[in-house]
This record gives sequence, C-alpha cells and structure tokens, in this order.
Amino acid sequence: MRIFFEDWNEIDAFLKRLPSMRCPICGASGAFGRHGFIRGLRDDSQDNDTIRARRIRCRPKRGGCGKTWSLRPGDRLLHYCFGTKQAWAFLRGIPAGRSVKAA
Ligand SMILES: [Zn+2]
Repeated sequence: MRIFFEDWNEIDAFLKRLPSMRCPICGASGAFGRHGFIRGLRDDSQDNDTIRARRIRCRPKRGGCGKTWSLRPGDRLLHYCFGTKQAWAFLRGIPAGRSVKAA
C-alpha cells in the first residue's frame, strides 16, 4: 500500500480510487473506506490540531480485514510532527559542530 504522496491533491485523487482498489493484506475488493485523520502538531503550523495524515481502513463490514493505513505528503516523517526540511537542516548542522538545539 502506498502511504507517501506528492501532496494533498494527490492523496485526494487516491481516495477517489478507493472503491475500486483491492486490499494487499486480505485481497478484499471494494472494502476500503475513509477512516478519519491523524491530527496534532505540525512544524509548518501554529495550530495544535493540524491534519498530519488521512486514514483509510479495509472495512470488516464490507468483507475486509480491518487493517488501517495512514496517507501523508512525502515531506512528512512517520510519527513526528516535523518534516523532512527540518530533519535535513538538522543533519546539515551536525558537521558544522552545531548543537542539537542550534541545529
Ligand atoms: Zn483487508
């Protein structure tokens, strides 16, 4: 299952194709449904309740297995509120001897 996308528009286009997709775990066809959002802090927003990812589920009521996936833009890291730009800036600061706080 693809979980990283170019941007939110590509995620929306993927979500429109959900009804015709087959689950890679159980093989059920047409069982996928939208399953809410992952919300929280995000480095590019002052809002503490920003959408970080969309969730989909292979729905048991439609013959699926219940597995969920999160779909997110490619500049986001799994399980972290900061993105790849901040992570790269941190890594580039290490050889220059910058502290973790300064990086
Ligand atoms: Zn499934």
